[in-house]
Amino acid sequence: IQTLMATKLLLTFVIYRLISTVGLTVEPSELLRLGVDGLLSLDAADVETASLDFGGMSRVEPLAVLHPASAEDVVGLVRAAYSSAHGFKVSARGHGHSINGQAQAADGVVIEMNGSKGTRLSSGKPAVTLGEKSNYVDVWGGELWIDVLNSTLEYGLAPKSWTDYLYLTVGGTLSNAGISGQAFNHGPQISNVYELDVVTGKGELLTCSKEKNSELFHGVLGGLGQFGIITRARITLEPAPQRVRWIRVLYSDFSVFTKDQEYLISLHGEPVSEKFDYIEGFVIVDEGLINNWRSSFFSPSNPVKISSLGADGGVLYCLEITKNYHESTADTVDQEVEALLKNLDFIPASVFTTDLPYVDFLDRVHKAELKLRSKGLWDVPHPWLNLFVPKSRIADFDKGVFKGILGNKTSGPILIYPMNKSKWDNRSSVITPEEDVFYLVALLRSALDSEEETQTLEYLNSQNRQILRFCKDAEIKVKQYLPSYSTPQEWMDHFGDKWGLFLKRKMEHDPKRILATGQRIFQPST
Ligand code: FAD
Repeated sequence: IQTLMATKLLLTFVIYRLISTVGLTVEPSELLRLGVDGLLSLDAADVETASLDFGGMSRVEPLAVLHPASAEDVVGLVRAAYSSAHGFKVSARGHGHSINGQAQAADGVVIEMNGSKGTRLSSGKPAVTLGEKSNYVDVWGGELWIDVLNSTLEYGLAPKSWTDYLYLTVGGTLSNAGISGQAFNHGPQISNVYELDVVTGKGELLTCSKEKNSELFHGVLGGLGQFGIITRARITLEPAPQRVRWIRVLYSDFSVFTKDQEYLISLHGEPVSEKFDYIEGFVIVDEGLINNWRSSFFSPSNPVKISSLGADGGVLYCLEITKNYHESTADTVDQEVEALLKNLDFIPASVFTTDLPYVDFLDRVHKAELKLRSKGLWDVPHPWLNLFVPKSRIADFDKGVFKGILGNKTSGPILIYPMNKSKWDNRSSVITPEEDVFYLVALLRSALDSEEETQTLEYLNSQNRQILRFCKDAEIKVKQYLPSYSTPQEWMDHFGDKWGLFLKRKMEHDPKRILATGQRIFQPST
């Protein structure tokens, strides 16, 4: 029965793609007649920006770029695309931090959700509402998380769940999941939203939540931009901590490292004082990386010699944890941290600690960005690979990938941390492994024009394919986070049981398949 159902779904999907015509386009004169309050631009510089993304591996030109002044501008454009004789593609672009052209729109219109050319975007701040039961902030879908943070801090409040980097947009991360070291406790960002305004592929502006238009609400969260454009999000807030105790400890044994990580995330239900606030980790496969990382984090008087740590198979693992606190409770933070560390089995004398303001901790990756930019190492190709790996197979992944395929060269950080599936709402569109606990493994590598073969784009892309092939052959049921596939079968495999629902939601909310075509899941029809 399962095979029959799978065949039926595949057939529906293939027919769905076949009846489409690919050459959708629009005359510039048709666009210019639209009349928007913001700016509809055919300017070469605008088009160039919208053709590119952080991945730096593909360049696809839209015909025009809309800088909306309001949700009504987004409605006007999508309605025109939906009802025009020829139809045209429309993609929201957050901050263009995708890897594989997900926000591009070939010969269509890219809506620059972030930026100051539309009047709405250069005025108004996010509106914070202080409630008796809960505090929340209403933000424009193209707002950067760093701006959301700065606005809410004026009220002593902050969102609960983050990404490691804050120069990403609310609509962009909510279309994926939005994860960082707080996810074990608060869930991903998509678990911390009360309500959305969404412009569907039919050009309707709908408010949705768990109670109202709930199918659309769940569909859009983690929905890869397929069902609508988020113009407003209502995000839950908590009292903002003032400072952060930031700790790193090292492991040479992978099973001890993951045992401790899993123990720490199992404390999610405990009182705040008895758990950490953030749990991540990373893999150190080459000495260059650790020296680099150590010099930026730790005092030079650190006595530990990395070579003396007896790394298992040349690989070390670093657990990264934080404890938030207010200046008024500074006297208890040491004891709380001490009590938690007592239960862990890291290498003695490998505890590295720093203490900094909450904002500086959240905005830490921006510092690294500025450094890389100054060396010309930011705007380079980024063949990143993000995988969710089920807990039961993480040791096999370690053996095959960290101690196997990677050799001792990485070309960038490799993050690894577990999350609790119970904190993810299964009704959303995002796909995670079937187990109660799964790991994010993020291979965040940069390619260089280098003499050294292991740093080239070709080499890193080929290594990514090798990792995916290894997982398939070893039957490790990984799921890509920020997924990128090119064939219908691969997308169907990715969604598994949820494919039917995803397709149904698409037919309902974007029947002409004009939205976010850069994801390469569906092709548009006329
Ligand atoms: P874009 O890349 O511009 O868009 C992404 C997709 O969402 C596109 O398909 C686009 O059409 C669609 N979209 C954009 N805006 C909207 C909207 N308003 N409504 C509907 N659809 C929309 N992710 C994490 O989860 N955790 C991290 O810690 C993390 N760190 C990162 C660090 C860096 C340096 C980078 C480059 C990326 C990181 N990411 C992380 C990935 C990030 O979440 C994705 O790139 C995400 O797409 C957000 O980027 P963006 O806002 O630029 O969206």
